[in-house]
Amino acid sequence: MAKFIALPVGQGDAFYLDRGNSTILVDGGKSRSALPDMFRRVTGKHSVDILVCTHNDADHVNGVLGFLESELGCEELWLPGRWLAVLPDVLAPLHTFAEKVLSEMGHDGILLGPDARPVDPISLEEYAARYEDLYRDYEPGADGDMERNHNGIELGNDGWPTSAINDLETAQPWDMAGGIVWPSNNLWQWIDIVYDSPTTARNLMVSLIDAASRIREAAILAFHKGVTVRWFEHCPSLPSGGTAGVLIPANAQQLLRMRYRKGSVVEYISLSVANRESLVFWAPPTDRMPGVLFNADSDLAKMSLPTGLENSLATAPHHGSESNAHAYDVVKNASGDGKSVTWIRSDGRFLKRPGDAYLTKTTKRFCTLCRPGKSPSSKPKQAVRLFTRKGKWARHEECHPCACAP
Ligand SMILES: [Zn+2]
Ligand SMILES: [Zn+2]
Repeated sequence: MAKFIALPVGQGDAFYLDRGNSTILVDGGKSRSALPDMFRRVTGKHSVDILVCTHNDADHVNGVLGFLESELGCEELWLPGRWLAVLPDVLAPLHTFAEKVLSEMGHDGILLGPDARPVDPISLEEYAARYEDLYRDYEPGADGDMERNHNGIELGNDGWPTSAINDLETAQPWDMAGGIVWPSNNLWQWIDIVYDSPTTARNLMVSLIDAASRIREAAILAFHKGVTVRWFEHCPSLPSGGTAGVLIPANAQQLLRMRYRKGSVVEYISLSVANRESLVFWAPPTDRMPGVLFNADSDLAKMSLPTGLENSLATAPHHGSESNAHAYDVVKNASGDGKSVTWIRSDGRFLKRPGDAYLTKTTKRFCTLCRPGKSPSSKPKQAVRLFTRKGKWARHEECHPCACAP
């Protein structure tokens, strides 16, 4: 019997799949401290075979960090390929990293875009979105160009580039309390940015260091835990599919080599946070289990989905946000009329979610927490539990279907 559980995390996603012969946890929710106990209590397990982080957003990765630093075990950690590209930068001491970022900024603390023109950024995500056209260069061709795996530094069997081992072993914690002070010609710039510049630039710097620190911690924790890492580069144009393996990338390819970055560290870290670069994974069906599509925060743009989606489970992209409405049509087109697909939505308490598309374009659906109506009598958050029976997904009797207020 296979089991699927959407853990009732406070915010974000944490989806557990037990295929019978292997176990998988995709993302860990936003709370680093709450995830380990919740995982043990809800799944009754102490380890998984594969731990996945779909992208570098706090509501997906924080719980993964909590998992890695706890007593819980995992054989493999799957991470976005963007993280590999900035590994040497983020393993450096904080002041070295910050100086690198500063060098990509103009003298007035203004960030320069990839076109060398100043941008007034609002968030890392927006920064990435603004330069979407320029980033197209980084995508492999539609023919599934594997050129990226033909040059660069080969990764070891454990997934680490040999050149990073020493940095991983000796990395000191980043002390982020009270800002950064270091002897440097650029010190005046840093003070300028942190204390005097418009809040947008300050916020960007802070969120950049924040995002970089998550990449850094995941790498160091996994390394010291002796976990094998696999890196997956986002490339939606690659055809997805196949039935081999327990979990298959649907919009990415596994990296076997580490290449030198083409862009700035700011670009790569902003892309690591971007929802549209969320990794999507497919747990292919077996005789006894229909498949499971883990959509993370992706809108499934430019993707061709795997075959065999009929009767599968699919996680609601971006917690049911209307900005990802497109994804429901993509799944529908790939699975007959789409009515056999069961949707699972994990979310915190937000009034704007789920959007209309989630409520109108799906027929079978479950939420960890439904949107409350005008009366405050909404049900408490639940673990969404399903199991396989006669080759279909069935709900646990205590698990109630979606009752989101319209
Ligand atoms: Zn999210
Ligand atoms: Zn609901």
